[in-house]
Amino acid sequence: MLKVESLVIDRETRIGDNWRQRYKQLILHDPVWFDHMPYIQFPSHWPVFTPKDKLAEFFEAYAMLLELNVWTQTNMTSAKWDAGKQYWTVTVERKTGDKIETRTFHPRHIIQATGHSGKKNFPPSRGWKTSADVYVTVQSFREPTLTLQGNAPSSSDLAIQGMTIIDVRGLVRFHRRHRPIRPLLRRQAPVDDADLILWSLPRPVHKALQQQAAALSIENDRATLEGLTKAGFKLDSGPDGAGLFFKYFQRGGGYYIDVGCSQLIIDGKIKIKQGQEIAEVLPNGLLFADGSRLEADEIVFATGYKNMRTQAEEIFGPEMAAPLKDVWGFDEEGEWRTMWRRSGHPGFWFMGATSRFAGTMADTWRCRSRHWRKA
Ligand SMILES: Cc1cc2nc3c(=O)[nH]c(=O)nc-3n(C[C@H](O)[C@H](O)[C@H](O)COP(=O)(O)OP(=O)(O)OC[C@H]3O[C@@H](n4cnc5c(N)ncnc54)[C@H](O)[C@@H]3O)c2cc1C
Repeated sequence: MLKVESLVIDRETRIGDNWRQRYKQLILHDPVWFDHMPYIQFPSHWPVFTPKDKLAEFFEAYAMLLELNVWTQTNMTSAKWDAGKQYWTVTVERKTGDKIETRTFHPRHIIQATGHSGKKNFPPSRGWKTSADVYVTVQSFREPTLTLQGNAPSSSDLAIQGMTIIDVRGLVRFHRRHRPIRPLLRRQAPVDDADLILWSLPRPVHKALQQQAAALSIENDRATLEGLTKAGFKLDSGPDGAGLFFKYFQRGGGYYIDVGCSQLIIDGKIKIKQGQEIAEVLPNGLLFADGSRLEADEIVFATGYKNMRTQAEEIFGPEMAAPLKDVWGFDEEGEWRTMWRRSGHPGFWFMGATSRFAGTMADTWRCRSRHWRKA
């Protein structure tokens, strides 16, 4: 749109394959009005919660309608920055049919958009001995299994299929998902307006508003939260009580938007073991640091990701990645670290994460109108 020449490369066969390949139950956790893309919004008949394959189709159509320059089945094989000429020399290999074509480019900028996070957090730290072949990571998970390690959106999604969740360390911020009723859609703030308001809010003001919103959501969800606590589930209310969004902004995880898992935990249909380090993965289950054992046919590790910078290191090598700063979370001025801004390396940018933050604004609005009504 800005008349900047660009080429998008992706290693998968089709646009959206990174969604198609995930576990079949995956449905977006946010309602559609949180997820709109720039230039072309989801159609008005779109379901409130988008199934992953439908999202993949939308992305493919989006790229076609906007005539985006995308090469799939393409891998970058080398990238070197020329400080004198101020451009990159990039070699890519593109597969078409049986043929692999090698091309060299000289872009002034590279944007790494490989997802919000970095390398898989697996095997987890703290000297685990992984002697067994009973486990799978959530990234390669496809079908129901029995025991699950980790606790955040993906692990809770999978647990609904009837497993035990084991959470070693974390406290989790639960947040009830908005009810999927169509009239609610019409009451949302226009997405562009919400974006503008949100992005122009100084972070401390935004945090103060979110503290109020989180307090209201805790009040609304009291019965669920008490039930979870009774079931042995440790909860928190986000950084300084600012709820889910600030946990997402600062940590990029540690929360769960309830798609049904909470009630199953409360009813004892999903069992929880929390606060115990795993000492060893056994051929038939897990051994914990306190000596207790848990038998399992299969274990899914939903142990999250490392910082996005680790992915840059893997793709571009340690020398190029050395000056890069950690991505996400806030800097001393309350701005997002490194994402969408100077990365520490000339001509190199990080882009990732959720498409927009309109939802935060919708929450803030709801919260404010409640307070205004009270006043
Ligand atoms: C269960 C779940 C529910 C979610 N629900 C929502 C929601 O409702 N709303 C929302 O806004 N967000 C949601 N998110 C978060 C959202 O999925 C991510 O923030 C978003 O997908 C990030 O988009 P992205 O384009 O930055 O990266 P991705 O969608 O991860 O795309 C990265 C692309 O890079 C390619 N790639 C990676 N490495 C290489 C390489 N070396 N060479 C070539 N190509 C490469 C991959 O093939 C992929 O196509 C959810 C996430 C999960 C796990």
